[in-house]
Amino acid sequence: MTFFENPENRGHESIHQFCDAQTGLIAIIAIHSTALGPAAGGCRMWRYDCEADATRDALRLARGMTYKNAMAGLPLGGGKAVILTDPASPPTDETFRTFGRFVDSLGGRYITAEDVGISVDNMRLVQQVTPFVAGLPPAEGSAGGDPSPWTADGVFLGLCAAVKHRLGADSMDKLRVAVQGVGKVGYDLCRQLHAAGATLVISDVNDKNLERAQADFGARLVTPENILFEEVDVLAPCALGAVLNADSIPRIKAAVIGGAANNQLATEEDGKRLFERNILYAPDYVINGGGIISVSLEYMGDKTEADTRAQIALIPGRLTGIFVESEKQQIPTNEIADSMAEAIVAAAAAQP
Ligand code: NAD
Repeated sequence: MTFFENPENRGHESIHQFCDAQTGLIAIIAIHSTALGPAAGGCRMWRYDCEADATRDALRLARGMTYKNAMAGLPLGGGKAVILTDPASPPTDETFRTFGRFVDSLGGRYITAEDVGISVDNMRLVQQVTPFVAGLPPAEGSAGGDPSPWTADGVFLGLCAAVKHRLGADSMDKLRVAVQGVGKVGYDLCRQLHAAGATLVISDVNDKNLERAQADFGARLVTPENILFEEVDVLAPCALGAVLNADSIPRIKAAVIGGAANNQLATEEDGKRLFERNILYAPDYVINGGGIISVSLEYMGDKTEADTRAQIALIPGRLTGIFVESEKQQIPTNEIADSMAEAIVAAAAAQP
C-alpha cells in the first residue's frame, strides 16, 4: 500500500517534511484543512521510534485540530507539527529558530504553538523568525499565554454540563471523580473540582506531580493500572490518548467520561462501546477546546481574558447539544460531534 492509498492519510491538504543538516532538526508539518482559515495546531516534540510513526501522529493530530477548531467556532483550520528528538543531539536555541523558519516558509498556512514537550520559551525563539506563532506570554489582561489553565476551565465546565445531563447533579459537590494524569491541565482541573466539593482519586507516573496534587487537594492515590476502573461518578483522562478501548471500556464504572487528553478513543468503534454501556462520553476535542480558544484569540490580537472566558463558557452548551442529539438519534456522542464538525468544514469549503 502506498502512503496515500492508506485511508488514514487521505483527506489532508498537504504534508511537509523538513530536515536541517546544521542543527540536525527533523520536523513534519501536516495541514489537514484550511477551509475555515489558516491551519492551527501545536508543535509536539517527541522521541518517535521512526519517521513513519511521527508522520502518522502529525496526520492524526492535524485532523483532530480541524474538528476541534470547527467545534470551538474558530476561524481556523487544522494542522500540527512534530519535531523528532534524538537523545544524542538535544535541541538548541537554533533548533527552534530553524523550526520557525520552516513554519515561516509555509507563508501563514500553518500557525504553531506549544504542545507536548514544547515550552513557552521555545515558542519565543520561534517568534524571532516568524509571525505565525501563538502561545506567547500575554500583556496584562490580554488573551493568550500558557493554554493549559484555559483547557482545564473548559473541561471543568464541560464536566458540570455532563453530570447535569446524566446524573441530574447541579454541581460537582460530593461527586467522586477519577483524574488520570495530574500534569498542567489535570492539576488545574483537580483544583477546580476540589473547590467545587468533589472527592478526588488520582494517578500519575510522575511522583512529583502526584504528591503535589495529593498534598493540595487531599486526593486518594491509585496505581496507573487501576485509575480507569475506580468506583467513581466521573472519569477524567488527562494524560494519554487511546485509553478508552476494547480492553478498558468493559471495566469502567464511571457514568460520565470527559477530560483533556486528545484522541481518548482508540478507535471510533470505542465510542459505540461506551454508548452501548450507557456511559456518557464528552467528545475530547469539544471539551478540551479551551486552550486553542485562548491561543487563537491571542493570535488574532486585541482580545482580552474576558473574551477567552466568554468563548470557553460556550463549551458546556455545545456538549449538551451533542448529548441531546445523541439520545434523540441513538448515535454515540463521538459520531454526533464528528458529523457536526464535518458539516461546519464542508459549509466553509463550499463558499466561493
Ligand atoms: P502534561 O505533560 O503537563 O501532563 C500529563 C500528565 O500525565 C503528566 O503528569 C504525566 O506524568 C502523566 N502521565 C503520563 N502517562 C501516564 C499514565 N500512564 N498514567 C497516569 N498519568 C500519566 O500535559 P498537559 O498539558 O496537562 O496535557 C494533558 C493531556 O491533555 C495531553 O494528552 C495533551 O495532549 C492534552 N491537551 C492539553 C492541552 C493543554 O492546553 N495543555 C490542550 C488540549 C489537550
